Amino acid sequence: MAKVKVLIEGYAKESENGWIASSTTCLIISDDKKIITDPGCNREKLLSALKKEDLTTGDIDYVFLSHCHPDHILLAGIFEKAKFVTFDGNLVYDNDLSLKFDKDILRKDVEIVETPGHVIEHLSLVVNTSDGKDHAQAKGMDMKVLIESRKKLLEKADFIIPGHGKMFKVKKLD
Ligand SMILES: [Zn+2]
Repeated sequence: MAKVKVLIEGYAKESENGWIASSTTCLIISDDKKIITDPGCNREKLLSALKKEDLTTGDIDYVFLSHCHPDHILLAGIFEKAKFVTFDGNLVYDNDLSLKFDKDILRKDVEIVETPGHVIEHLSLVVNTSDGKDHAQAKGMDMKVLIESRKKLLEKADFIIPGHGKMFKVKKLD
């Protein structure tokens, strides 16, 4: 079973002449691997969140990137030993080597799910955790496709960790 911890709760608000936004960042521990999801674009917050976990940028094995927007990916490069699991043709980058990723690359408790809609190549994770509950990361502009992707995640997960904003529990109808 894997563990998920929200390190930074993402935010997005309009400012006078633009936006103030950075993504939610999670730490997933899966077997012996440490995975960071969407490192975002706030360097100070990211470094202090890692410090709180007693981690340095060199401790991270994988960085998962959900999609190509700068508020989710700008800081990806600070993890000097990590491999990057990305939306870009579903590739894993290891320095200058890029290969199609194996679906179990983040270990069997972390499933990579295609969730198009916000952008066509969007990916999310569904994580099996010890309390038998799943967590997922998703964000939602193809509304029709986006709604289908959200339905898919809502069926799979008990908790949703969105790209910006608070984690919430999925209400299941049965
Ligand atoms: Zn985006």
